[in-house]
Amino acid sequence: MRAVNCDCKVLENIRLNDTICMLKAEWTDQEHAPKAGQFYMLRCWRQDEAPLLSRPISVHEWDEAANTVTFLYEVRGEGTQKIAALKAGELLNLTGPAGNGWPVDQLLGKKVALVGGGIGTAPLYQLAKELAAKGEKPSYFAGFRDEPYRMEAFEPFCACTALATDSGRFGYHGLVTELFDAKEYDVICCCGPTPMMKAVTKLALEAGTEILVSLENKMACGIGACLGCTCHTKKSGAISVCKQGPVLKGEDVYG
Ligand SMILES: Cc1cc2nc3c(=O)[nH]c(=O)nc-3n(C[C@H](O)[C@H](O)[C@H](O)COP(=O)(O)OP(=O)(O)OC[C@H]3O[C@@H](n4cnc5c(N)ncnc54)[C@H](O)[C@@H]3O)c2cc1C
Repeated sequence: MRAVNCDCKVLENIRLNDTICMLKAEWTDQEHAPKAGQFYMLRCWRQDEAPLLSRPISVHEWDEAANTVTFLYEVRGEGTQKIAALKAGELLNLTGPAGNGWPVDQLLGKKVALVGGGIGTAPLYQLAKELAAKGEKPSYFAGFRDEPYRMEAFEPFCACTALATDSGRFGYHGLVTELFDAKEYDVICCCGPTPMMKAVTKLALEAGTEILVSLENKMACGIGACLGCTCHTKKSGAISVCKQGPVLKGEDVYG
């Protein structure tokens, strides 16, 4: 489906902690409804203003009845600082939905684990919701450096949730990879920092478990035109993460 471009009204933009924000915007284009694992290119500054490029952010939640799309994002640099300054009623330019998304129908009937690290948990929430709506409850394992966010939001859609933190102040003191046994699952869907996704891929492959990773490579156009987010895969050679991804087979990227 072709990505569309639209100025959308911000309905709320709240801070969950010092660096994490959640923005809800109107998305009335039901014909181009987003799917779990897809993303949008966000922009709230003029074309001749810095930064040059729009910023890719995953769909955290799509509410079909309310016509809203929600983004969970970490404030890192100039682009996300500008997005964080948006107030309810202001406009946010969205291009999307883009990318392939999680293959939800292929996950049905399988035992699924969702494994997220930090802000990489963002694209797993809509996936949990879509699986639960189809009668499947995945297990959710999340790792954070210290204070977690949105853990409780996953609970209604998951068979179980478990938390690990580097600091040990919340949940298990250690790495998210120590929370689960890959052998117990048919498929693992993973998003987070690259070392974490590599470690989860290794565990999954050793256990003979299918592994899907959602990449967050830096990207420029977001629609497969500029090759700025090219990734070298084992099976398909060079691919554009924004078009053929961001969800790819772990063994193709890290195996
Ligand atoms: C498909 C996709 C989905 C994404 N989904 C989310 C999401 O749901 N929530 C979220 O918070 N972020 C997400 N990201 C990452 C997000 O796009 C970057 O954090 C953002 O572009 C940074 O912009 P900035 O202007 O604030 O920071 P910049 O000034 O561009 O950079 C600030 C710091 O962030 C680092 N950085 C920039 N881009 C990335 C990136 N893509 N990955 C890792 N580090 C980066 C830079 O190296 C620098 O250290 C996603 C990225 C992709 C490609």
